[in-house]
Amino acid sequence: MNQDIHARYMQRAINLAKKSVEAGGGPFGALIVKDGEVVALGHNRVTLDKDPTAHAEVSVIRKACKKLDTFDLSGCDIYTSCEPCPMCLSAIYWAHIDNIYYGCTKADAKDIGFDDSFIYDQIDLKPEKRSIPTSHILRDQALEAFHLWVAKDDKTEY
Ligand SMILES: [Zn+2]
Repeated sequence: MNQDIHARYMQRAINLAKKSVEAGGGPFGALIVKDGEVVALGHNRVTLDKDPTAHAEVSVIRKACKKLDTFDLSGCDIYTSCEPCPMCLSAIYWAHIDNIYYGCTKADAKDIGFDDSFIYDQIDLKPEKRSIPTSHILRDQALEAFHLWVAKDDKTEY
């Protein structure tokens, strides 16, 4: 795939980010491509949907999975107008997306009030050191669900 094609997809993600601002969402857009075809377009819908997880990347992953009827986006690439936050980066890994192309950096996002570097820093801390008080309780009971999973013969692994 040549650079022009990457630039064209990225420009579409940027256009989605701009449209999102006009529509009342955050300034982030993303799209997913498979085999040279655009599978899904998405933009930030946090304020529109009252959903703190509705970042552009998560939104477009949900749409692409619905469209392709799968939870595995292997073979897909994501173009996002901004470097993914920790949640979106995790979602991209869970979705098994092949390649990430991003426009703005996380430092650019921090400059306009979207500071996910704080969350990146939190991930490195032990749970008891994080800013949200975190307690570890009922491990043995919680493990019962894992034992059921391990013993289940007909599970759908992901
Ligand atoms: Zn995100």
